[in-house]
Amino acid sequence: MAEVVQVRTGAYDCDVLVIGGGIVGLSTAYAITRAAPGTRVTVLEKEPGPARHQTGRNSGVIHSGVYYRPGSLKARYAVRGAAEMVKFCAEYGIAHAVTGKLIVATEREELPRLHALVQRGRENGIPVRELGPAQISEYEPEVQGLAAIHVATTGVCDFVGVARELARASGAEIRYGARVVRVDRRPGLGVAVLTAAGDVVRGRVLVNCAGLHCDEVARLTGDDPEVRIVPFRGEYYELARPELVRGLVYPVPDPAFPFLGVHLTRGIDGGVHIGPNAVPALAREGYGWGVVRPRELAGTLAWPGSWAIARRHWRYGAGELHRSVSRAAFLKAVRRLLPGVAATDLVRAPAGVRAQAVLRDGTLVDDFLIREGAQAVHVLNAPSPAATASLPIGREIGRRALDMLGSL
Ligand SMILES: Cc1cc2nc3c(=O)[nH]c(=O)nc-3n(C[C@H](O)[C@H](O)[C@H](O)COP(=O)(O)OP(=O)(O)OC[C@H]3O[C@@H](n4cnc5c(N)ncnc54)[C@H](O)[C@@H]3O)c2cc1C
Repeated sequence: MAEVVQVRTGAYDCDVLVIGGGIVGLSTAYAITRAAPGTRVTVLEKEPGPARHQTGRNSGVIHSGVYYRPGSLKARYAVRGAAEMVKFCAEYGIAHAVTGKLIVATEREELPRLHALVQRGRENGIPVRELGPAQISEYEPEVQGLAAIHVATTGVCDFVGVARELARASGAEIRYGARVVRVDRRPGLGVAVLTAAGDVVRGRVLVNCAGLHCDEVARLTGDDPEVRIVPFRGEYYELARPELVRGLVYPVPDPAFPFLGVHLTRGIDGGVHIGPNAVPALAREGYGWGVVRPRELAGTLAWPGSWAIARRHWRYGAGELHRSVSRAAFLKAVRRLLPGVAATDLVRAPAGVRAQAVLRDGTLVDDFLIREGAQAVHVLNAPSPAATASLPIGREIGRRALDMLGSL
């Protein structure tokens, strides 16, 4: 094998080799060719087209940045990224709308957390308006709550359209159906990868944007990612009576988890989605309970962090599992926000799976995580709001890759 992918000096197919054609990998390609025209970028994507995993299976929300710890990468990139995403969509004619959203408290114990979000939003420079029950009905007549906040800068867009446009506008060579199975890195001699089809592609610097597989790809290079991707599926229903919801309605999130809770989202197509919940997936691309990959599942179970999560959060997890298998339990949870919804209003819709990085001790990595190895940049945690923030994230990854190129 080593001879097959051996790197030869002067035989590079490209300067930067990006693994992963989701929104982060494509945004990185776009940023590099903008910042340093003439740099040869190749993107290898295992699927037949772009954005087939997290990027194409999410809520489609341009997040304002209201939730994230001030100073974190998430806060900085989401605030900047949301404004840039709206501009990008407008410039390239991609469907989008700045709708604003409500975050609604339905229980008294949620009120302090709602007030904390107001503070956090202000610290992140996001104007929020506090609402009482009567004002909630002005925005959303069918929604019930004790109090809410309105965030005006939230929107929705077509992230698949954005990914396609990033691929085109980057001018990078994009190879679809190219699953990377081996990596050979020689200090000072670049990186060569072998695809499942037997092709060898050589680059000077490697960028790993493999999403649900990013830790595996990091290990292929010989770098220890020190985290494991634990896949959490998010299941959705479509609302058969979309007229019940005008815009975007979110619960107050539980700060113990990096997930925002089941929300109601009117997308750019006018349909309303309800979800996503968060249940353990039995495969990294496990979009239903029937998809089980024993090798991947064994890898998740062998990671001590997975058991630590199970011990710490079993009560929350049990509730999520119950709501996953019982439509009645899911309906009961949705009715807290939208009392008029009936069982017949819920139509199953495609699920997504989040690539959540988990430390050995069970800590769910909260912020974006980018690590460098020799001639390699690894994106090891790019969960929500990474689609919103993809333009600034891509610039940061691209800057690191170009710095590496410059130092070779
Ligand atoms: C249910 C859900 C809801 C979400 N809602 C939102 C939201 O409303 N707003 C928001 O901003 N964010 C949201 N997110 C987060 C957002 O979707 C992700 O942060 C973002 O899409 C990550 O992009 P990515 O390019 O890192 O990953 P991906 O889109 O998963 O792309 C990774 C790519 O790498 C490829 N790949 C993997 N291994 C290999 C290999 N060995 N060789 C070649 N290719 C490989 C995969 O096929 C894939 O296409 C949500 C995510 C989920 C799952």
